[in-house]
Amino acid sequence: MESRSLLISDLDGTLLGDDESLEKFSQWYAHHRPEVRLVYATGRLFDSVVQAIETTALPEPYAVIGGVGAELRRYPDGNSLTEAWPGRISGWDRKGIISILSRYGGLLMQPAEFQHDLKLSYYGYCLTSDFLTGIRQQLERAGFRTEIIYSSERDLDIMPAGVDKGSAAVHLAGKWNFNANEVIVAGDTGNDASMFDRGFRGVVPANAHEKLQMMHSQEVYHSMYPHAAGVLDGVQYWLNRTKVPAGNQMSDS
Ligand SMILES: [Mg+2]
Repeated sequence: MESRSLLISDLDGTLLGDDESLEKFSQWYAHHRPEVRLVYATGRLFDSVVQAIETTALPEPYAVIGGVGAELRRYPDGNSLTEAWPGRISGWDRKGIISILSRYGGLLMQPAEFQHDLKLSYYGYCLTSDFLTGIRQQLERAGFRTEIIYSSERDLDIMPAGVDKGSAAVHLAGKWNFNANEVIVAGDTGNDASMFDRGFRGVVPANAHEKLQMMHSQEVYHSMYPHAAGVLDGVQYWLNRTKVPAGNQMSDS
């Protein structure tokens, strides 16, 4: 059967965070795999996603958007899903960007395991929007074209312009021929925000950070449940709203 929905979910803080509700999500998904195609969109790189799948109840996905969109890989072989992503990059020079950011106190480069050719990651606690605007202006002035993504009051990711979870999700939905209203996205922090303004159906678990809690639109469902329980609640909400009329239903299991 053709999958009718594409579920693109963040991991840490979203599907991960409560083992018991993840177990329930996983049981539900085992019965709905034919209709719902599952993809993880995470700040983690592929190997770390594999490790999480092997050590938790996380179901096996079809693909992984890793490194906040830096990579788009097939699961389980880890091969690049498409040559077309992320496309042509311009205005991106890691070394040049590092030399500008090294002037800022309060930024600490994250360990090598979190770095990628297309993702430069720092720790920076409780950075203000003025501080982030300052960085943006400095990078622009130096001729760099970047996305500046700040999550969880801690993680600062600098990405090439046009590379984030949202644009990777759009690319994937297009490649697999899903309409925007057949795509459900779920996430809990700032690096998920880019998935929520693409016409997709959004799910925000109760534990989400303020930035996501503040997103109010008809296309965003705020669950009263945290973590995987919130994702499951939201996915069921959206699937019930898109059910074909009785009599035309293919199968419910
Ligand atoms: Mg998260």
